[in-house]
Amino acid sequence: MRATRFFISTLKEAPADAEIVSHKLMMRAGMIKRLGSGIYNYMPMGLRIIRKVENIVREEMNRAGAVEMLMPVIQPAEYWQETGRWDKFGPLMMRVKDRHGRDYVIQPTSEEVMTDVARTEIRSYRQLPVNFYHIQTKFRDERRPRFGLMRSREFTMKDAYSFDRDPAGMQQSYQLMYDAYTRIFQRLGLQFRAVAADNGDIGGSGSHEFHVIAETGEDALVYCPSSDYAANMEAAEGVPLLAERAAAKAELSKTATPGKAKCEDVAALLNIPLQQTVKSIVLTVEDEEKGEAGKQLWLLLLRGDHELNEVKTGKIPGLANYRFASESEIIEWFGTPPGYLGPINTKKPVRIVADRTVANMADFVCGANEADFHFTGANWGRDIPEPQVADIRNVVAGDPSPDGKGVLAIQRGIEVGHVFQLGTSYSQAMKATFLDENGKPQLLQMGCYGIGVTRILGAAIEQNFDDKGIVWPASIAPFEVVICPMGMDRSEAVKTETEALYQALLAAGVDVILDDRGERPGAMFADWELIGVPHRVVIGDRGLKEGKLEYLGRRDSEASNVPVTEMLAFIQ
Ligand code: ATP
Ligand code: MG
Ligand code: MG
Ligand code: MG
Repeated sequence: MRATRFFISTLKEAPADAEIVSHKLMMRAGMIKRLGSGIYNYMPMGLRIIRKVENIVREEMNRAGAVEMLMPVIQPAEYWQETGRWDKFGPLMMRVKDRHGRDYVIQPTSEEVMTDVARTEIRSYRQLPVNFYHIQTKFRDERRPRFGLMRSREFTMKDAYSFDRDPAGMQQSYQLMYDAYTRIFQRLGLQFRAVAADNGDIGGSGSHEFHVIAETGEDALVYCPSSDYAANMEAAEGVPLLAERAAAKAELSKTATPGKAKCEDVAALLNIPLQQTVKSIVLTVEDEEKGEAGKQLWLLLLRGDHELNEVKTGKIPGLANYRFASESEIIEWFGTPPGYLGPINTKKPVRIVADRTVANMADFVCGANEADFHFTGANWGRDIPEPQVADIRNVVAGDPSPDGKGVLAIQRGIEVGHVFQLGTSYSQAMKATFLDENGKPQLLQMGCYGIGVTRILGAAIEQNFDDKGIVWPASIAPFEVVICPMGMDRSEAVKTETEALYQALLAAGVDVILDDRGERPGAMFADWELIGVPHRVVIGDRGLKEGKLEYLGRRDSEASNVPVTEMLAFIQ
């Protein structure tokens, strides 16, 4: 590829709405372009990366014996009504009507349509096992789209669905996918961890999430460094409070005085500057954007003598993401005016954990937004006992591992893949059966397996960047090598060597781009460092006199000189 025939559009500054590094860098590198909230154009530079991710996913799915097909983006509502998910999915699901007033879904996932294909196509046990997958556009009307491709509304997912004759077969299919996912994330060159997860609303009996490890991750992962125990926070098995910690807490509670929390206290505790112009503050603390899915969402709302004019975002180390919002925004999101503290919309009670005691706060509502998981009059304060919750299960770092092999540690992750054992929950709802050896109808045993293809781009950057820009893992870089000639229009020698190397790399199957734009060296180098191409070759008269070219790896601090004749072998 020649740069003059391609499309390169870099920016010095990221737009103001880009909060995290991956979003900023993808915008600056011209990989994506915002069209609307959570909706992006994939620009040529970004699409190359997406295609490389898709190809790795496709190769490993095929290798694991799955077969590719393609299900429609727009799906008739009737399939979703059969399983009850037409109602259950809530506002996350985008619904549209055709000219006759008939209802449709822009697919957020495809269990229903897949189960329909299976019930009409699979007749006999002889056709089993089978695993279908597709790589297709999804739409989820996320409550708060953000972070660019990490939590967008339109995104690309690879979703696969396995069908087996019995639970043992289903578990085998599940294991094949688990292993395929491990290979996929290895080939993507990412540091990742698989953790046990809850099945949530999707139903079934077992599930794992694959997370890319990153400080900015929305999920907390619990693991034991000295064994293979790993779970996400929701699935982590509760363990009793360590005796020393319980004693320390009791000691603390003797010393402080009660009182209502003030904005200043919280601002100081969380190390947030408090603006003088502010009348009322609303502070949302949340572990994850899971309101609709009925999972964990922390909400810390405060009223004070201040008003915050601008929306601020940031991260509290070790706690969760926080964001200031206006009072009207809060009412719009939650239908609740500011004034209470606690995790809402969570089906499990969660312990209110604050490493540093959250000032003194009294009379808040906390717990799940559901009967029997709901507490009023909860108090936080050094002299106020924690709310009495019988079934408190959150895990903190240092707790003993449930397998008895060490203590637990916590790190943050970005969910990039999720595998589920579904069992017969869908086949039962949609009457999807096959005939066994005795000619008797049996329910199909299902599994389903998702990978967030476009989210992987953001996750890879969160793990691989420096002050100059993105550092792509070689397997998914938009180009593997960039050739930067110095003064190609002036020097016949540079021109000849550049063409020769370019053609040699192309012939060797290397994904190379030749920067023939005629930019100044500084601007040219800055662009490719921002874009994150792993190998750079500079061709100039000075080096050529000695028969050398200059090579710089994206992570190298110093360039090295490589003889012209050895460059091809050097790069490969
Ligand atoms: P999350 O917990 O982040 O909302 P999820 O559990 O709802 O994700 P799944 O239903 O398990 O997502 O979908 C499979 C994969 O699709 C996820 O593991 C994730 O990588 C990706 N994904 C889900 N929602 C989004 C989104 N809004 N934007 C980009 N990718 C997404
Ligand atoms: Mg979700
Ligand atoms: Mg999730
Ligand atoms: Mg998931």
